[in-house]
Amino acid sequence: MEKQKVAFYTLGCKLNYSETSTISKQFLEKGFEVVDYNNAAQVYVINTCTVTENAEKDCRQIVRRALRNNPNAYIIVTGCYAQLRPQEIASIEGVDAVLGSNEKFEIFDKLNSFNKHLPSCVYVTPTEKLNSFHSAFTVEEDSRTRAFFKIQDGCDYKCSFCTIPLARGKSRSLNPDEVKLQFKKILESGFKEIILTGVNVGDYGKSFQKNLASLLKELISIQGEFRIRISSIEPNLLSDEIIEMASSEEKICKHFHIPLQSGSPKILRLMQRRYTVEDYQTLILKVIKNIKDLAVGVDVIVGFPGETEDDFLQTYNFIKELPVTYLHVFTYSERPNTKAINLDGVVDINERKKRNNMLRILSEKKRNEFYNNSIDKELIALFEHEENNGLIKGFTSNYIRVQSKFNANLINKFVKVRIKEVKGNICTTEIVNSAQTN
Ligand code: SF4
Repeated sequence: MEKQKVAFYTLGCKLNYSETSTISKQFLEKGFEVVDYNNAAQVYVINTCTVTENAEKDCRQIVRRALRNNPNAYIIVTGCYAQLRPQEIASIEGVDAVLGSNEKFEIFDKLNSFNKHLPSCVYVTPTEKLNSFHSAFTVEEDSRTRAFFKIQDGCDYKCSFCTIPLARGKSRSLNPDEVKLQFKKILESGFKEIILTGVNVGDYGKSFQKNLASLLKELISIQGEFRIRISSIEPNLLSDEIIEMASSEEKICKHFHIPLQSGSPKILRLMQRRYTVEDYQTLILKVIKNIKDLAVGVDVIVGFPGETEDDFLQTYNFIKELPVTYLHVFTYSERPNTKAINLDGVVDINERKKRNNMLRILSEKKRNEFYNNSIDKELIALFEHEENNGLIKGFTSNYIRVQSKFNANLINKFVKVRIKEVKGNICTTEIVNSAQTN
């Protein structure tokens, strides 16, 4: 008998991708075949995000795409947007089931069959009751090299622009023993770089009087050849202990992604972030001083309500002067049920775009500068897979995208390379020798 087919579409962050991957494993266990979203399938699962602009429009389009591939397909919408606006999604033509943040892992318990019927089923636990933890891990396409491992979910912070605490509930973590167990399993399946992910990873372990530093200490003591990258960490949670470990332990990547959001003290206050511009500057100077060759990524939001030209220029100049490596630039967009939506001083959409563009150009310059300053340095790269043009690509511990002439012996190996030349967003390298991180 031909296997039933399922296809997935994921919007948003790495966390969502890792969760989609866990859901797809459940379908595989039930005997389904996972196919590309452009193919005909009996079931389509759309894992949504609230951060994407036009979440509803995106969702409609993705549903329509599925129905074009198979007009009789059963369509499940889940994820943050489904948690926040279940009825809105249920009313989209063609949607059969809406599952909230908890229920996304319970598809086979909640739905008896995948037979279409009206009205759509809606299963959403109220956000204040979201307290279970579902671990997940995923890999980049075709990669057996880098795994994204979810160790934390939810957030207790109250940033005024953010709907994530509404969609994912309170901060909670996977207990350290379970983390270690799963971490070892991921290593056993051959992965060499594990990226610890979550909504607020730096907040890890609060409920069991642990913290990210203590977890890292336990993880790096595990035998094996691997390295750990922290996906992102709030500036107020990047402790001296973590900095010390990153400076002395080869197994921790020389790379932090530290959200700033704004370099204007006024805007930062309105955003209800938990640090000042001065705190951020002190932190960045400290990490750069203490960790050799460190790369620092920065999240910034432009066009937040009340952000004048002058506020934006403060942000721009602040970042320009900081020794950071690259930016992730987000354009503010209004989200229902947030404090920010009621603030005065709405910034014109074109102005938001202009500011975004300016920061993207700055980001390119910063990255280019960092890459150029790395020329002739010897760094440890982890190579991934073959590329069509006879090249193999990978990342260094400090997140430089590198390439070398393809050699099968380099796949999934830590290799000492010398950076030779910057070619756009990648550096060419010369192999120095194989290296170990343990
Ligand atoms: S720290 Fe702030 S921006 Fe990040 S998830 Fe929590 S509330 Fe949202």
